[in-house]
Amino acid sequence: NYARLMNKDTVKAADRAHVFHSWSAQELIDPLAVAGAEGSYFWDYDGNRYLDFSSALVYTNIGYQHPKVVAAIQEQAAKLCTLAPGFAVDVRSEAARLIAERTPGDLDKIFFTNGGAEAVENAVRMARVHTGRPKVLSAYRSYHGATSGAINLTGDARRFGNDSATAGVVHFWGPFLYRSPFHATTEAEECERALRHLEDTVVFEGPASIAAVVLEPVVGAAGVLVPPPGYLAGVREICDRHGIVLVLDEVMVGFGRTGAWFAADHWEVVPDLLTFAKGVNSGYLPLGGVAISPAIAETFARRPYPGGLTYSGHVLACAAAVATLGVMAEEGVVEQSARTGAELLGPGLAELAERHPCVGEVRGMGTFWALELVRDPATREPLVPYAASGAAAAPMAAFAEACKKGGLWPLTAGNRLHVAPPCTVSAEDVARGLEILDGALAVADAHMA
Ligand code: PLP
Repeated sequence: NYARLMNKDTVKAADRAHVFHSWSAQELIDPLAVAGAEGSYFWDYDGNRYLDFSSALVYTNIGYQHPKVVAAIQEQAAKLCTLAPGFAVDVRSEAARLIAERTPGDLDKIFFTNGGAEAVENAVRMARVHTGRPKVLSAYRSYHGATSGAINLTGDARRFGNDSATAGVVHFWGPFLYRSPFHATTEAEECERALRHLEDTVVFEGPASIAAVVLEPVVGAAGVLVPPPGYLAGVREICDRHGIVLVLDEVMVGFGRTGAWFAADHWEVVPDLLTFAKGVNSGYLPLGGVAISPAIAETFARRPYPGGLTYSGHVLACAAAVATLGVMAEEGVVEQSARTGAELLGPGLAELAERHPCVGEVRGMGTFWALELVRDPATREPLVPYAASGAAAAPMAAFAEACKKGGLWPLTAGNRLHVAPPCTVSAEDVARGLEILDGALAVADAHMA
């Protein structure tokens, strides 16, 4: 057993010897040894507590160690840990029913995966088989996962080290008024030009060759970009007109993150396929999936679906989903996320922006916000260049360090701070978090031009 790993030195030593970490130069990282977590906090072996404003990787929507979800996993483990995906099993059926009930419109069938990237891979596979077309369109400012297909759909810089298999993927620009690719000055102008650009891309790629548009309804890891009113409906209309499948990737923003069950609900847009993961069970066990429209389900009614996974609909992960969705309904977690955004985070972050010249823009909704940190608010030059690393990224590293010193675990990406506490974060913890950010932003101010 691993009881001998009882202090930070032994935990760290074993980690450094044997754990190979994601996205990292292995010798240049120094992972914090974490001893435990509860609610909105985790703590290290020296008793330092961190207010987790990253929700792990934006997935602990109900916080760490919710007792009802822990108990449900324990009960299910005692009853039945696992069963092959081909069987019908009560807890998997119930998880699928609950998810289908929450997803927008008529998305009624659920294909389960172990996470987000696999959900995206399978959505694209469904769209290609359904349409018989090869190409897929996705946004430059996007993140869709790190498996071969999903990383090439990903438009942001995480694609760079993997860009060997882009066959069939075409990127386009989505709306982002603060750094408008269309030189727009109003939301309405940005929306109209972004839709015209997408239409032009479709026409020049050849609509009959395009299976799907894959889009995050609120762009997550690549910037927390809330679309202007009308944009998603416009994308839906373009897809309909050209027989293109609309895949909305709700892996990061689904299950309460934006203050609605799904981000698409804010604009009442129903995709043909919806990918989810993370918040579906607060990440207590790996689970993701694709919610499928009747028309696409029909394609596979009498023809085998050419895909599957050993752990599709894993019994323990489904038990965690059933319990999580129950907690979210009982405790009004989605409503709380909306209120926290409208009443606390939105106004609080705007107030910080007024006092700190390094904050170029505040944007977001629910418990999902971003601060765009800049060297110069007039030119909007980012505090660190796009895809910077090492010395070039030092100002953001200093800012993140100041947050941690203050007791807040931040989520930074490029020149941005993403603010994504659990949807259940308390008003006191929001106030505490804002106070810590206030101090850390002074460090970022000092790094301006
Ligand atoms: N899609 C979106 C929108 C995401 O934010 C992520 C992960 O952050 C993924 C897909 C990939 O999910 P996973 O890391 O579970 O494969």
